[in-house]
Parts: sequence; structure tokens; C-alpha cells
Amino acid sequence: MKLEILGCSGGIGKGLKTTTFLVDGELLIDAGTGIELLDMAQMLAIRHLVISHAHIDHIAGLPLMLATIYDAHQHPIDVYALPEVTQALREHIFNWTLWPDYTQLPEQAPILRLHEIRVGEQIELAGKRITALPAHHPTPTVGYLINDGQASFAFSGDNGVNPALWPILNRAKPELLIIDVSFTDDVQELATLSGHLTPSQLADELAQFSHDCPIRITHLKPGFEQQIIDRCRQLVPDRPIQALLHGETIDF
Ligand SMILES: [Zn+2]
Ligand SMILES: [Zn+2]
Repeated sequence: MKLEILGCSGGIGKGLKTTTFLVDGELLIDAGTGIELLDMAQMLAIRHLVISHAHIDHIAGLPLMLATIYDAHQHPIDVYALPEVTQALREHIFNWTLWPDYTQLPEQAPILRLHEIRVGEQIELAGKRITALPAHHPTPTVGYLINDGQASFAFSGDNGVNPALWPILNRAKPELLIIDVSFTDDVQELATLSGHLTPSQLADELAQFSHDCPIRITHLKPGFEQQIIDRCRQLVPDRPIQALLHGETIDF
């Protein structure tokens, strides 16, 4: 399995894109501004998209990508998300005001097909078994566990303190955990309100994780990346913790 990190920042700016992961060239996990790194052929190769939640940093690339590939596309794109998220996309993005309703275009075979997935549900896409993981965030959110039969990785989604996650990951024993730590400890209240972890909270969360695997931090707030990573490593010295990096490819 090949995982390409197109975007993993909590913001934008030179060299920074928001959450967009590409698996084996055809399965997207979230469609943030990282979509911009793909050329036309790469966008046309995408068949499936699983979305963690409706926040704009995780979906901004989708309407723009659909418009870009519309004339050349041969296959629809199947998008999976919580019912609240597909509803939000219909109401707030693909509503003919912000953007055309691509669930209706082209009329005979629309390019966008929205499917609902629920927490705990498993689906098979692109040869992967995908499980929707519980996540704690101010809007309905899931993480995802992706397993190709040989290896698996877990992505927390945007996520705060979430005791429900750990029993699942303790059983799944993924080869990699990608987890959201957006804020420094000194803005704990803001982190809690916005449903993201701080380094101290990460330490508490990882105390419930009995499996040993590489841990990569995502959604870091621009300008605070090193400070957050240093603090995570200081608080959890016995775990292999690193920042997730833009443009990197992880092979399993
Ligand atoms: Zn969010
Ligand atoms: Zn986000």
C-alpha cells in the first residue's frame, strides 16, 4: 500500500496544504487543498473519496477537482461520509449557489455519487477494507482505518479526547497511526472547544494505546509545528513520534 501525503497542515501558506491523503493513486482520504498537487491524469485516476467531516479544510478540493476533471472524466467519483456530511455537501456546497450540483451532472451519469457511512461500519473500496472510526469533534466526524489485507493504518480524523478510539485500535494493531495534535498546551481551552488534541492530551490518550507503532502527528497549527512536536516527544519519550510531512510517501 502506498500512502501519499498531499496535505497535512492545520492551515495554508507556502508549502502547506490541508488534509488530503492519497492511497494507491485511486482512493482519497479527505479532499483539502492538497488536491492542488495532483495533475489532471492523477485527478482522473481517483475513483473513491472517504471524508472525515464537513469542515472546509477537508473538503475544499472536492468541488474544484470535479469542475477541473468534468470534461475529461470517464467514471463517477464515489464519495463516502457520515449522513450529516453528505447532507452538508448537498445543502452548502453543491447547491447551485456556491457550486453546481454535481450529483445531477451530467444528467445521464452524474460525476459525483454520495454514499453514507456510519461509525463502526466497514466498506470495501479499491481493494481496501475501510472502517469508520469514532472521532470527537464539534461537527459529526469519523476517522478511518484502512487495511489492504497486508498492512493497515489509522487516521484519527480531526479529533480531541476520544476514549472510544483506543479499544478499537488496540484490537486492530495498525502499522501506523496518524493523529491530530493541532495546538500547544497553553491554548488547552481552545483545543478542547475546537475538538483537537494538545501534546499533554496526546500523552493521556496514548497511555490507553497498548500497541506499539509509528505515530505521525497531523493538522499542526502553522508556526507552531516544531514546538508541538518537541513537546509531544518530551511527554511521550518512549514512542516513535514524528510530524507527518507534506509530499512524503509512506510505503507499507
Ligand atoms: Zn475539523
Ligand atoms: Zn481540519
